[in-house]
Amino acid sequence: MPLRLHTEFQTLTTRHPFIIARGGQSEYRTVLVRLTDDDGVEGWGEAAATKFYGETPDSVMAALSVYGQALPGNAFDLEEAEATWLQMLGGNAAARAALSAALHDLVGKRLGVPVYRLWGLDPRRAPQSTFTIGIDTAERIRMKVREAAEYPILKVKLGSERDVEILQAIRSETDRELRVDANCGWTVKHTIRMLPVLEEFGVTVLEQPLVPGDLEGLGEIRRRATIPVIADESCRTLADIPGLVGRVDGINIKLAKCGSLREAIRMIAAARAHSMSVMVGCMIESSLGITAAAHFTPLVDIVDLDGAALLAADPFAGASIVGGQVTLPSGPGLGVTRR
Ligand code: MG
Repeated sequence: MPLRLHTEFQTLTTRHPFIIARGGQSEYRTVLVRLTDDDGVEGWGEAAATKFYGETPDSVMAALSVYGQALPGNAFDLEEAEATWLQMLGGNAAARAALSAALHDLVGKRLGVPVYRLWGLDPRRAPQSTFTIGIDTAERIRMKVREAAEYPILKVKLGSERDVEILQAIRSETDRELRVDANCGWTVKHTIRMLPVLEEFGVTVLEQPLVPGDLEGLGEIRRRATIPVIADESCRTLADIPGLVGRVDGINIKLAKCGSLREAIRMIAAARAHSMSVMVGCMIESSLGITAAAHFTPLVDIVDLDGAALLAADPFAGASIVGGQVTLPSGPGLGVTRR
């Protein structure tokens, strides 16, 4: 008998309104996915709709009702299930990522092993996670930096009129490692002007300065930059990697963009074949979605999995990034429990 699918909305509230170059808010809705097999074993996943890619919580729900018509008879048919869903309805990566996570959770639980062990990974190899400071006033930036005292690496969102002011506010509070994400908010000309500024403030990584399609521009930035340039919005799936070779130093993988844990692993392999570094990122999501991505952190160089750490209350317990240290749960499957 095929698996059974249950879905529900989940409302999340961030501790502070989370603002990036294209706006932001403090209330987020994700979709929970639960797959149950004949023995009552459950696999869980979370879909964080990406507005940037035209997704909403309702479109995620609608996509799940389509994918729900083709649930595998056996949870172990991971490749076939994911290929079938993609063929039925493209896009909708967040919905497919939640189903992918739920299937991997179910398989791990059936075998009694964590997903990272299925992949042969050592959880102690996970790099430290950054903690993100969203766009805000100088005063509130300083407060957020103080609040984030336990995190050794900060990532700051830029791409507004206040970029220099924000960098000054952070540096007035801390000399911790600092990475920058402009979320497509800059032009080539402006980025070139900003490069010496980033250097002056000791920034170590520059993520996605330009609009997604400007690969030539990314190449030009990379030639002039003294710090690594990472593609996020320009790199959704495996198929985007060939066009980025030579133009960026690394890629940022997110399950909500690539739609599958297996696609994430394929992307890591492709990036490595081109000597690119690999980052794993997230959306605003609970520890359920974060933990699905955390399971492959032993394979990456840069971790930015603070989505659940930014929440006022986390409805799930799983991987944690306390003190920046990624700690994977030792339970079977994703190892996530509902609080
Ligand atoms: Mg980013």
